[in-house]
Amino acid sequence: MKVLKFGGTSVGSPQRMKDVAKLITSPQEQKIVVLSAMSGTTNLLVEISEYLYKKNPEGANTLINRMEATYLQHAEELYQTEEWKQQTRQFLQEEFAYLRSFTKVHVTSFEEKVILAQGEIISTNMMTNLLLEQGVSAILLNALDIVRTDKNAEPDFNYIRQRITAALKDNPQQNIYIIQGFICRNAYGEIDNLLRGGSDYTACLLGAAIQAEEIQIWTDIDGMHNNDPRVVPNTEPVRQLHFEEAAELAYFGAKILHPTCIQPAKFAAVPVRLLNTLNPSAPGTIIDNNFQQGKIKAVAAKDNITCIQIQSSRMLLAYGFLRKVFELFEVHKTPIDMVCTSEVGVSVTIDNPNHLSDIVDELKKYGTVSVDRDMVIICVVGDLDTQNIGFETLACKALQHIPVRMISYGGSNHNISFLVKAQDKARTLQALSETLFH
Ligand code: ADP
Ligand code: ASP
Ligand code: MG
Repeated sequence: MKVLKFGGTSVGSPQRMKDVAKLITSPQEQKIVVLSAMSGTTNLLVEISEYLYKKNPEGANTLINRMEATYLQHAEELYQTEEWKQQTRQFLQEEFAYLRSFTKVHVTSFEEKVILAQGEIISTNMMTNLLLEQGVSAILLNALDIVRTDKNAEPDFNYIRQRITAALKDNPQQNIYIIQGFICRNAYGEIDNLLRGGSDYTACLLGAAIQAEEIQIWTDIDGMHNNDPRVVPNTEPVRQLHFEEAAELAYFGAKILHPTCIQPAKFAAVPVRLLNTLNPSAPGTIIDNNFQQGKIKAVAAKDNITCIQIQSSRMLLAYGFLRKVFELFEVHKTPIDMVCTSEVGVSVTIDNPNHLSDIVDELKKYGTVSVDRDMVIICVVGDLDTQNIGFETLACKALQHIPVRMISYGGSNHNISFLVKAQDKARTLQALSETLFH
C-alpha cells in the first residue's frame, strides 16, 4: 500500500480538489491519502486565534464569517448533486458554528490548537464527500484517534502503528483511506499538532507504521530543487536523494519537507517520492537508500538562528568545560544546531531563543559571552565524505566575498554548513548555486 500526501495548494480550490480526486482514484489500488488544510486556511485560523487571544471577538467573527462564505461557495462548485451540496453545507455550517463558539470563551493555547485543527478536518470531510458522490470506495479516518505524541511531544510511534493497523483491519473493503495531516492528540489526550507543515510528518509516520511500498508527497513544485526557488533563480529539480541528504535539507530549511518528516521513513526504509500536483507526469524526486558518490546535491537555508560565543582562557587544556556549557542548553531544553570550538572558545547556534537570556546569564559563569541574532545557517548537502578532495574548497570559494561567522564540516559525510548574517542570505545562496551547479 502507498501513502499519498497532498499539501495545501494541491487541495487549494474546488478544481484542485477534483484533480486530486482523479489522481487518487487511478490506479484503483488501496492507498492512504493524507490531506492538508486548503491553502491559506491554517494561516487564517492562526489569525482568528490571535484575535481571540487579544480579546477581540469581533475581529475573529469577521474572519470566521468570511471563511464560511468562501467554503460554502467551494461546496457549490465542488459537488454536482444537490444531495452532496446539502450534506456538505450542513457540515460546514456546524463547523463554523463550532469555530464561532470560541468567540464566547477564554482562549488559551489549548483552544488555539482545537481551532487550528479545523482546517484539516474540513478539507478531509470535503474530499471524502467528493469521492462518495463519485461512487468511489472511500472512508474518512480520524487522525485524532490514530496519531499521538508522547510526553516529549515526539510522535508515539508504537501507538500510531497499532492504531493505523487496527483502522485498516476494521475497514478492509475500502480502496481509499482519507486522513487529516498535521493534527494529533498529545500525551494528555488533548488536541495538538505536529507543527506547521506537519502533514508531511503525518504521511511519513503512517507510511513507516504500515511499512508502505512508498510515501508520496504531492506539492506545487517538481520535487526538491537544488536551491531555494523562492530566493534563487533557475534552480533545478534533484532527481534522487539519499535519506540522510533529504533529512539534512529538510532540517536546514528546504520548505518542501517538514524538518523531521524524513526520520521515520529512513528508519523504516520506505522510499519517499516528491511529486507535483500541477504536473503529475513530471518525475519529481525519489528519496531512498541509494547514495550517489561525488555529487553535491543541493543547498538550503535555515532562518532565525542565534549564535552564542563563550570565550575563556579557563577552557585551555581544561576538561569538563564543554560539558558544563552543553549541560546548560540541555537544562533549558534548547537544541544546538552548529558547534565550532577553538582552544579558548566555543560558538554554538540555536533556533529557539525562548530561554536565551537565562542561558546567557548562566554562561557568564564560564567566560565572556557574546550573542549574534538574525543569522542564517546555509547548508550544502551531498557527497561531502572527508576522503573527497575539493568539494569543501569549492563551497568556500563561492563565499569568498561574504563574511562568514562559522563553518561546520565533518560532523556528517553529507553536509557542510556556514553561518552568515540574514542580510547576506540571498547572495550566499546565489553564489553557491553559481559555483556548485552552473
Ligand atoms: P505544501 O503546501 O504542498 O506542503 P509547501 O509550501 O510546504 O507545500 O512546500 C512547497 C514549497 O517549498 C515550494 O512551493 C517552494 O517554494 C518551497 N521550497 C523551498 N525550498 C525548496 C526546495 N529546495 N525545493 C523545492 N521547493 C522548495
Ligand atoms: N495545514 C498545516 C500548515 O499549514 C499543515 C500542513 O499544511 O502541512 O502548517
Ligand atoms: Mg508543506
